[in-house]
Amino acid sequence: MAKTLVYKFGGASVKDSDAVKNLAKILRNRLRKRMIIVVSAMGKTTNGLEDILSKKLKKEDFSENSSILKAYHRRICTELFPAGHAVFAQLENLFTQLNNKLEQELNRENYDEFYDAIVGFGELISSRIVAEYLCSQGSIVLWQDAREVIHTNSDFRFARIDWEKTKRSCQAIWKPILENFPILTQGFIGSDPKGRPTTLGREGSDFTAAILATSLDAGSVTIWKDVPGVLNADPKLFLNTRKFDELGYREAAEMTYFGASVIHPKTIKPLANAGIPLFVKSFLDPEASGTKIHENVSAHEVSTIVLKKDQILVSFKVTDFTFVEEMHIHRVYEQLQALKLRVNMLQLSAISISIVIDAQLFKLEQLLEKLKSDFEIRYNEELELLTILHPKAAEIPKFLDGYEVLLEQASRNTFQVVRRKV
Ligand code: ASP
Ligand code: MG
Repeated sequence: MAKTLVYKFGGASVKDSDAVKNLAKILRNRLRKRMIIVVSAMGKTTNGLEDILSKKLKKEDFSENSSILKAYHRRICTELFPAGHAVFAQLENLFTQLNNKLEQELNRENYDEFYDAIVGFGELISSRIVAEYLCSQGSIVLWQDAREVIHTNSDFRFARIDWEKTKRSCQAIWKPILENFPILTQGFIGSDPKGRPTTLGREGSDFTAAILATSLDAGSVTIWKDVPGVLNADPKLFLNTRKFDELGYREAAEMTYFGASVIHPKTIKPLANAGIPLFVKSFLDPEASGTKIHENVSAHEVSTIVLKKDQILVSFKVTDFTFVEEMHIHRVYEQLQALKLRVNMLQLSAISISIVIDAQLFKLEQLLEKLKSDFEIRYNEELELLTILHPKAAEIPKFLDGYEVLLEQASRNTFQVVRRKV
């Protein structure tokens, strides 16, 4: 019996009516039962919803943002459907639910939970539109709510998967459906034990595809993107990039760990454990081979370059003339964990601990507040963290030219530098 295939389409692949039509075209001769199509929010919708939230938190007027978001989706629908189509009422209904939720009280304490209840609307709306459009074109898919099968804990914004429960639901609820129909669903969202909406972290739809694939013992996952496959650097930032035809799970995981945004970092591990191949293909050139990520031994002839922007370097200097001890490191990491902040780079010296983290709303402020009595703290913002995997010595200087280097670290396989333009 053929195994289930999982396709994932990100925000760019559904960003306007032409993109949705293109998606439908890709599916036309590929759609089959035992297929799950995972979609993200349309275009930059999640950012738009985040903007609304931050305005609401600051008690600013966000009505214009809401109208823009609604008009954006309505326009896509107008271009895809005849007047009077059922999708318009569904859209209206979803926006009413969103607006009702936005009327509730938001403060810094309930921010994460509120965030999850709001941003998931991007996926709920986009999946409705795409499902209706596919059906209207004769490609019959069944819309399903991912929150019914993706079970998580209550770590809002970065919810952790309850794998056992998720697998049970996938097998009990979705497997029988898949025997007869393809399913279209949302990435990024799940629900906690109390049934409250959760999200899996920004760009988490890839991870959703991997979760569903492992829970249903799928044959493969395909992520459809606006790039020809996995490249050795982001083509928007670097020239002369090269595509990998194949990549080992390990290499792919390393790249994402250091910040390559082509695939969500959590996606690889479950697929690697289950031995499910991951294809990254271009929705602009669907016949092209793309990249296959699977068990393979790669030679590293090309180095991989990953650039993370909006980085903050924070240095904690131990006071009173002592040296850095395990206790100090523990103290810092404890707070980082409580704030759900991940360290992108760490460097220790005799008297200080330096960490590099992503810039995130209020987080730096909170971190400083918690640790200011233990350390003398300094920080620099708006930095870039450049990681080169399997670096070739000769190419390193060109990445430093024109930059001030704040921190540098090299091992046999990895070169990392924190830099800022001079
Ligand atoms: N829409 C969500 C985001 O933009 C999830 C995703 O795109 O994967 O983060
Ligand atoms: Mg996205």
